[in-house]
Amino acid sequence: MARPVNKLLPVYVALVVAAGLAALSFHLSTQGSAAASTLRANPVVFGLLAVMALAAEVRPLSFPRGNGTDHRGVVGLSFAFAFATLLLAGPVPAILIYIAASVLSDVSSRVVWWKTAFNASLYTLSISAAAAVVGTVGTFPTLDPVFDPRNLAAVFLGGFAAFAVNTPLLMVALTNFQRSSTASAMRDNFLFEARVSAVLTAISPLVAVAAQNHAAMVPLIAVPVVILYLGAATTLAKEHQALHDALTGLPNRTLFYDRAEHALKTARRTGTAVALLIIDLDRFKEVNDTLGHYTGDQLLKEVGPRLQQVLRSADTIARLGGDEFGVVLENVSSEREAQAIAAKLIIVLQGPFRVNDLRLDVEASIGIALSTGDVNETGELLVQHADVAMYAAKESNSGYTMYQTHLDHYAPDHLSLVADLRGAVANGELEVYYQPKVGIESNRVEGVEALVRWRHPVRGLIMPDDFIPLAEQTGLIKPLTFFVLQQSLDQLRRWNSNGLNLTVAVNLSARTLHDELLPSAIARILRIARMPPESLQLELTESSIMADRVRSQEVLDELDRMGIAISIDDFGTGYSSLAYLKRLPVQEIKVDKSFVVNMANDENDSVIACSTVELGRNLGLRTVAEGVETLEVLRLLRAVGCDQAQGFYFSHPLPAAELTQWMDEFHSSRSSMRANHPNRPAM
Ligand code: C2E
Ligand code: CA
Ligand code: CA
Repeated sequence: MARPVNKLLPVYVALVVAAGLAALSFHLSTQGSAAASTLRANPVVFGLLAVMALAAEVRPLSFPRGNGTDHRGVVGLSFAFAFATLLLAGPVPAILIYIAASVLSDVSSRVVWWKTAFNASLYTLSISAAAAVVGTVGTFPTLDPVFDPRNLAAVFLGGFAAFAVNTPLLMVALTNFQRSSTASAMRDNFLFEARVSAVLTAISPLVAVAAQNHAAMVPLIAVPVVILYLGAATTLAKEHQALHDALTGLPNRTLFYDRAEHALKTARRTGTAVALLIIDLDRFKEVNDTLGHYTGDQLLKEVGPRLQQVLRSADTIARLGGDEFGVVLENVSSEREAQAIAAKLIIVLQGPFRVNDLRLDVEASIGIALSTGDVNETGELLVQHADVAMYAAKESNSGYTMYQTHLDHYAPDHLSLVADLRGAVANGELEVYYQPKVGIESNRVEGVEALVRWRHPVRGLIMPDDFIPLAEQTGLIKPLTFFVLQQSLDQLRRWNSNGLNLTVAVNLSARTLHDELLPSAIARILRIARMPPESLQLELTESSIMADRVRSQEVLDELDRMGIAISIDDFGTGYSSLAYLKRLPVQEIKVDKSFVVNMANDENDSVIACSTVELGRNLGLRTVAEGVETLEVLRLLRAVGCDQAQGFYFSHPLPAAELTQWMDEFHSSRSSMRANHPNRPAM
């Protein structure tokens, strides 16, 4: 996308070029023939100076500016050779050498013609200014090898004159071209440019003195210059390393923040907006886990070039770590534009990646944050917002999401929780609570459902709805599930060896269900716990089964062969086709609590709950109602023939020891028929 260029820029460029031409023709007409004879008399010296000016122009010395960013300082050493030529032979040879170097280097790097002309004119004007000063204040030009130290003052004044002409003329052009403020660019660059000019000016008389002595001395000047080049190259390489990701070569997090910050500043100045995108690959973890890190790395390397296909070369693409990438889009006109780009990025990432003859499918979730122009807005804040939006996109499976304040509950909190959750499994902060599943006919506890809790050292008890989604996104769900399986099977062994005859139901999330290694992992856990597969039930939601039917079917069939019962959780909330569910090896459906809780008061809920129970029975499945909070509801369920009830009417989920006690009381009150037992439901 081309930037709108200031309309006055062409006029300005034309004026500078005209002034340059005028200066050149003035010098040629007044001193042209004198210069020609000087050059003819000393072809080797001036030939060497010209070659060195050209070399310096083609490979300018660049090094970090030392402000922690990747803005480079570029030094045009060719000025030192042109200025030395001025001291030796006057403006005409100096200008000719200088513009020859400039034009040749511009042409070789395909700079457009009008910029080439502008640069040449700028050089002509700078040397003209310097020539006027050194000619007036000192005794130049001279090839006389005895250097008069009084001339040093003239040299420095001349260097300053060149600087005073060159820098403002250049800044005006650059900032108009980039549509930024000239004054602030001057402020940012003035010191740097002044220092460079002073150094180059100081070198010039050395070059001149060397040349006055003998042509053979001139190439010796190259020695310190080469050392400078090597030093600068090492520093640049080191800085590149510090600011780029080693695997992909893309900018890293540090540089990303800097670019975001910089883009924000520019946007505030020009009244445009910046969009910041955080891109997270959805199935990368699977690739890494199943195909190994090498394949994972190869895949990550392909991502940058893919994104580049959609973006402008000025946009920043960074790798923020793991499978997370960031993009800074400058000069964005609207939310819609940012969203359109995000949509394109998603599509370009969807095409299969070919890595070592494998075809890998990856999907991405993108969070977008758009700058508002607020003065307090920082790059860090934008990154945070984009991160929040990315989590929201992931959660809703929507591809991309624009940041909005109401999404903030996914926010920083959430991010620090992720870090904590990693430690939670290892540090034993997870606890398993159990809620009884009571037989409606038998009025006995027939099973328990294991429900995980997180006892956070600072935040206290955290409910699963607040961290299970996090665990799913980060891959921590796997160790979490295994922990719950181990704990609850151990507990079940204790209960059953004390004469109870229970089963335990463990919830599986989609992510675990689609793991082909799940059945063998569960078999191992059962073996270690010394429990038969019949004692375990797995609860799965319709939507997790539907998320990947093929793999779900395979895993479920395998679990069925092992003798583990499958229960469909939250039944009635998904959109699965019954015809499909019928083909699955399922033993039980759990009517979702949203229909059960209010079924005594809400006709619709009651119809749905009752017909779901009937449907289940007709399919030969056990039916369980969850969310049973009142006796009234329990009676309705009993009337339609529901098998089991679970809910606060009986008991909240409790730690194992408390549930043991509760079950004791529940069962004994039932046999002794004590009417007013607090926990004993009378039917
Ligand atoms: P769920 O599987 O539907 O579990 C039932 C939820 O309903 C539990 O919430 C339970 O406390 C609550 N509940 C039980 N009886 C009643 C009632 O009478 N009325 C009402 N209003 N609610 C009742 P909890 O423990 O907060 O768990 C929430 C969800 O977190 C679970 O929903 C399950 O999807 C998930 N979850 C819990 N533990 C695990 C786990 O170990 N692994 C996985 N993957 N998910 C888990
Ligand atoms: Ca459940
Ligand atoms: Ca449920």
